[in-house]
Amino acid sequence: MSDLVLIDAGGTIASLPDAAGVLVGRQGSAGLRDVLAPALREGVTERHAYAGLSEDMDFTDAMHIAALVGEAAAQGARGVVVAHGTDTMEDVAFLVDLFHGGEMPVLFTGAQRAAALPGCDGPANLHDAVCVARTEAARGIGTAIVFGGRILPARSARKLDSSGPEAFGPHGTAIGRVDDHGARLFSTPRRVAPFDPVKPDPSVEIVALGLGSKSALVDALVDGGARGLVIEGFGRGNVPGQILPAIERARAAGVLVGLATHCIEGGIAPAYQSGASLAAMGVIGARDLSARKLRLLLAVALGGGRAADDAARLAQGWLDG
Ligand code: ASP
Repeated sequence: MSDLVLIDAGGTIASLPDAAGVLVGRQGSAGLRDVLAPALREGVTERHAYAGLSEDMDFTDAMHIAALVGEAAAQGARGVVVAHGTDTMEDVAFLVDLFHGGEMPVLFTGAQRAAALPGCDGPANLHDAVCVARTEAARGIGTAIVFGGRILPARSARKLDSSGPEAFGPHGTAIGRVDDHGARLFSTPRRVAPFDPVKPDPSVEIVALGLGSKSALVDALVDGGARGLVIEGFGRGNVPGQILPAIERARAAGVLVGLATHCIEGGIAPAYQSGASLAAMGVIGARDLSARKLRLLLAVALGGGRAADDAARLAQGWLDG
């Protein structure tokens, strides 16, 4: 009986080096199911979603994965494992989670080292993700990333290491561990009611700030038709005072604006003058979400052409949920 769906979504785990040693996405199915030990492979059905590297994916590719996850849930699968590139795994896992309710766990995993290399981590990560998917305690956790022995909720997981085997963190947010003796879950993430499926608005962009940043990028994005913007500020969500007028112009033009911080932990608060000014302009604070994830939340809220005010209420409701 088929109980698990394994979605092949490309990335290093399904890639091979070309003649020059550069990793390229493999065309067609990578046959990832065959990487699993025979006892684990039993009952696993493989679906092919995407061939290529995750840096090239877009909302259409991500929503295709979300649709396959929805299909698996409707068919009563016990769990879904998505083998995916690590570069945008946190984005796609979070996006899938925004649309996923119910008890069926969805586990994203991948590899830092390709199959042809010594020390390749794909088979161990795939093994671990399948073990988690079949663990009773994983029911109801929603979407998570299983990588380097840790289980991290989609909401908090970020790629923190570009080459090492423990690619994702912060480790303090792990909800469980998995190794050759099985999976242990020690907490359940807070979950919010899912959104109805909708194509996210692709015009939402991120403006990452640095020392002395000026307002030209904000104005250019608004002039270019962005319906939403996420400002990635410093510390508690502080920005250089000189860009506040541009953000005010964006708000006056009906653009939905969100505010996140570059800091990995601690979240944002209107503790300083610029953050308080932004809050007064109706800018949506990210709470614990990274800029990349706040962008996805705003893109979903604005999806289907929803008006900015309604989208703001929806996004705020999700953050408060
Ligand atoms: N660039 C690759 C990707 O995201 C990296 C990986 O898979 O680990 O597809």
